[in-house]
Amino acid sequence: MSESIAIATWEFGVPSVRRAGEILSAGGAAMDAVEKGINVAELDPEVPSVGFGGMPNAAGVMEMDAAVMDGRTHAVGSVAALKDCKMPISVARAVSEKCRHSMLVSNGARQFAETQGVTRENALSEKASEKYQRWLADGNAKPEFMHDTIGLLAMDSSGDIVAGCSTSGMAFKHPGRVGDSPLIGSGLYADNAAGAAATTGNGDEILKFCMSFLAVEFMRSGETAMAACRKVIERFIQMHPEKENEDINLIALSPKGDYGAATLRKKFPFGVWDDEGCRCETVTRH
Ligand code: ASP
Repeated sequence: MSESIAIATWEFGVPSVRRAGEILSAGGAAMDAVEKGINVAELDPEVPSVGFGGMPNAAGVMEMDAAVMDGRTHAVGSVAALKDCKMPISVARAVSEKCRHSMLVSNGARQFAETQGVTRENALSEKASEKYQRWLADGNAKPEFMHDTIGLLAMDSSGDIVAGCSTSGMAFKHPGRVGDSPLIGSGLYADNAAGAAATTGNGDEILKFCMSFLAVEFMRSGETAMAACRKVIERFIQMHPEKENEDINLIALSPKGDYGAATLRKKFPFGVWDDEGCRCETVTRH
C-alpha cells in the first residue's frame, strides 16, 4: 500500500488529488495537500457546487461551508455561510491555526477572513448567476437538488492524516442553511490512530447520523476503509429503510493506507492519488 495517499469525492476531485499528490510526493504535509488540493476545485468555475462556480442561495447570495481537521492534533477549523469568498477551505484552515474558536459563521466568519487578508471577492460566476435567474423565472420556490461537496482526505509520509471539505451547499437553499460539510463528525473527521472520512450528498440527512465519525469509529474497531463506508450506509438503511434512495455518499482512508467509498446512488466516482498514479475510481450501490 502507498506511503502517501490522497482521495477525494467525485470525478471533479481528480485534479484536486493530483495537486495534493504533487505536494505529498515532494515530502509536503497532509494539511497543505488538503488545502491546496481543495483550492483547485474551488477555483474551477466548471465545478458547479464548490467555491467560484458554486450555486447561490435563494436570495442569490453565495454562502460557503468548509472545514478541515488535523488527525494528529485533532485541531479543527470550520466556516459556515461564509460570503464573498472563493476559497473557504483556506479560511477554515486559518480558523484551525489562528483563531481560538473552532467554528465561525456568516458575518463573524467574514470578519475573521478579513483579518487574514481574505478581502471580499465575487464568488458568483456568470454561469451560476444565469442558472439562478432561470430558477427565479421558473417561479419554483424550492431549493434544488443540485449540490456536491469536495471532500479530500490525505496521508503524508509521516503518517499524518488530514480531512477537508468545501461546498456552496444545496443550490438555492434558504439563506443561512448549513449542511453536513462544516460540521465536524458529520461532513468530515480525522484521527491519525483510526483514519479519516468525508461525506457528500443530502446534508440535511447526513448531519443527523455523524456519518464521518461513524466511519472512523468502524475503522478504529478494525474494519477496512471500504467496509467502514459500507457499514455506515447499512446502518442508515437499517434505521430508515424508507430512505433507500437518499443521496448519501462517503469516502474513507485508514492509517494503513487502504481506502474506500460507498453510496446509495447507482454509482459514485471518486479521485485517488497514490504510488500507482492519479485516477478516477467508481463504487456502485451494494
Ligand atoms: N452535503 C452538501 C450539503 O448538503 C452537498 C453535497 O455534498 O452534495 O450542503
